[in-house]
Amino acid sequence: MSEKPFTGTAFYAFLKEHKLMGARCPTCGAIYAPPRPFCPACFNAELEWVELSGAGRLASYSVIVIAPTAMIEAGYGREHPYCSGVVELAEGPCISAQILGVDVAHPETIAIGTPVKVAFIERGEGEAQKTFLGFEVVP
Ligand SMILES: [Zn+2]
Repeated sequence: MSEKPFTGTAFYAFLKEHKLMGARCPTCGAIYAPPRPFCPACFNAELEWVELSGAGRLASYSVIVIAPTAMIEAGYGREHPYCSGVVELAEGPCISAQILGVDVAHPETIAIGTPVKVAFIERGEGEAQKTFLGFEVVP
């Protein structure tokens, strides 16, 4: 379906197209997201891109108050914390991303196992615009 190499750069290029893509090993069926250049389970280097459903469940999370520079530039920080989590995708792999639609002021209300779906977060303007991976709580 695509000749893109299995790199983070290609993964983000797909995000810009609002596609959550993983690398699937046709030999053992393992799926990696973000992609890997080869399958660490069976060492096959002939992986293929697969579009993931974007559905998953929250596996763990933290509410971030001391934000890294990129997130401070996006408006987060001490006065405006955000939730970073690990989502177990329906296809199996776990991926970390920002979690939207949770009450960061009351982290005790955020439940492990909450169903989420992929969200494509646009930040920046013009040439500097980038698409970031997020997940939002399914109502
Ligand atoms: Zn494999």
